[in-house]
Amino acid sequence: MLRSRSRYSLCCLVLALGLGLAATVLTPLLAQAPTEAEQLMARVEALRNNDPDAALALLDEAMESRTLADAKAPAPLYRLRAEIRRGLGHYDRALTDAQIYVDLLAEEPDPVIRAGGLFLKGTIAAERNEFATALEHFHEARSLLEQAPPGEELARVYNAIGVTHNFGMDYERARPYYERAVDLARREDNPALQATTLINLAGTVAALEDPDEAIRLYEAARAIGLRIDDRGIVGLSMANLCDLQVQTRRHDDALKTCPEALAEIRPSGQPRLLSGLTMTIGDLYRDLGQSDRALGYFEESLSLATGQVAHVEIQVLERLAELHEERGEIELGFGYLRRLLALREELVERERQDLVEELETRFQLQEKQRALDLLQLQSELQASQLRQRNIWLWALGGGLALVTALTLVIMRSHQRQATLEHTLSDRNKALEAAVEEVGRLAAHDTLTGLLNRRAFSLAAEREIANARLSGQPLAIALGDIDCFKELNDSHGHPVGDQVLKVIAERLQQSVRGHDLVCRWGGEEFLCLFTGIDQEQAEQAVERIRKTIFTRPIQTSSGPLSVSITFGVAAIGLDLEQTILAADRALYRGKQGGRNQVVGATADDFRRQTLKN
Ligand code: GH3
Ligand code: MG
Ligand code: MG
Repeated sequence: MLRSRSRYSLCCLVLALGLGLAATVLTPLLAQAPTEAEQLMARVEALRNNDPDAALALLDEAMESRTLADAKAPAPLYRLRAEIRRGLGHYDRALTDAQIYVDLLAEEPDPVIRAGGLFLKGTIAAERNEFATALEHFHEARSLLEQAPPGEELARVYNAIGVTHNFGMDYERARPYYERAVDLARREDNPALQATTLINLAGTVAALEDPDEAIRLYEAARAIGLRIDDRGIVGLSMANLCDLQVQTRRHDDALKTCPEALAEIRPSGQPRLLSGLTMTIGDLYRDLGQSDRALGYFEESLSLATGQVAHVEIQVLERLAELHEERGEIELGFGYLRRLLALREELVERERQDLVEELETRFQLQEKQRALDLLQLQSELQASQLRQRNIWLWALGGGLALVTALTLVIMRSHQRQATLEHTLSDRNKALEAAVEEVGRLAAHDTLTGLLNRRAFSLAAEREIANARLSGQPLAIALGDIDCFKELNDSHGHPVGDQVLKVIAERLQQSVRGHDLVCRWGGEEFLCLFTGIDQEQAEQAVERIRKTIFTRPIQTSSGPLSVSITFGVAAIGLDLEQTILAADRALYRGKQGGRNQVVGATADDFRRQTLKN
């Protein structure tokens, strides 16, 4: 149940995904591509790292130009543009390109190349937190690759599946895929890939609370790095090792590993890694009671993270605020606290803007379609009006009998015009509804209609900011349905889905208007209560627990009694840490026999602070 993540592994996870299968896919296709495209790709690749916008503009221009359009822009251009757009965060457009790429590969006989397209789609989906879709694509790529002789591409796909489960915090599922990736990379004699996947595996094993094994794995990765003299791998594994040793209070070991890791990583100047590591070393000295030294490292970490690595910036500001407060330097502590609050608000605002931009892009795509539809309808209308005018002329020139006959035709023509106008207005309405639906879907879980994780986190951050201003307490409850797997196994998944829906409804009905309820994961729900402290929240959740348990749920398999175990925690400085504390309490509830509400203790919070 432990859900702390290793900071350094995450750096590595993203990288491993990004590299993907690109190189493998490019070479064979380019062999047949026109030279013009080949030269263009070389120019774009050269620009891409330093100025991705310019690289994209160059590619756009060339792909829309006549020559390339006549020659049919070859598939790798779409792949390249998808990758650049992905890097720039233009996920919708990246996905469109990736889809074209996959379509162009439909006839491709080499499964490795076809898998490359799916891998790309999966990567984009994972980066926009659509883990289920990402897994679908990665598994498609996996089954294609498993038909071919095993190669490092398959190892990368296994790794990507692991990473996606990791992003979704499903460490149990991530682990076997990393193990396969490590094993395959070893058999393929690719030590760099082996070491990278080992680091990912170690991070997952650490999250599954097996520090001894995780340490062994990091050391194995480090040994490989030393053997092939890859300083990046050596630094990354040591930074992780230091972090884990500090987290698990192996202070003597950490005093040895951490300075070595720092010496290894400093020359690389990577702010993400360095800021995380200096913060960890600060934690080490704080644990050892050497607060002057701890302050020095925290300050270094802050200057590295400021404006560059938001999650470290937040964590280190918290630490500085706490440490100064502990030292009685209230004024200084308060200064850091103010910076922390300002940064949080900025981040919430930025995320909201990102969401709006994403929706706007989708809206613009639909607008284009609507403009085309409108043009078509207008030309139909004009044609109909023209026909009508001609009919009038004929009618004037003709006899009475003819007029009578033609009147009928005119009426029909009028009807047609009215129908067209109707269709136009219907389509407009449908479009408005579709735009509204896009907004709704972006924020809600499809099965239960509850807020999804992302929307919940945004709304919760807003509540936290408000509560901080008003001084009101806040609390959360994390609920996990008991023995749900058994229920699925004995009654089937559709019945499981019915139960999830009813529980979602009951939770939503049981909270007050301002409170938030979200589907946190498969059979996990997270509620946020405003204006009540932990004790009051525990009482409220106890009432909810009883109501749900004592009213059997009507399903197609008959009435079923379902219970939920809850962990409750008052919101402290950090939402993520509070959720982790609630998760620990929930875990005790499961251990203690399920169907109960357990409050988080100071220890649950403290353990998380140390872990971070
Ligand atoms: P515990 O009391 O310890 O929580 O046991 P559990 O069986 O509830 O927990 P476990 O994590 O072993 O199983 C969770 C199950 O929830 C497994 C998974 O198939 C099921 N599940 C997750 N999402 C859905 C869903 O959307 N629909 C259905 N029907 N089942 C789901
Ligand atoms: Mg669960
Ligand atoms: Mg469960």
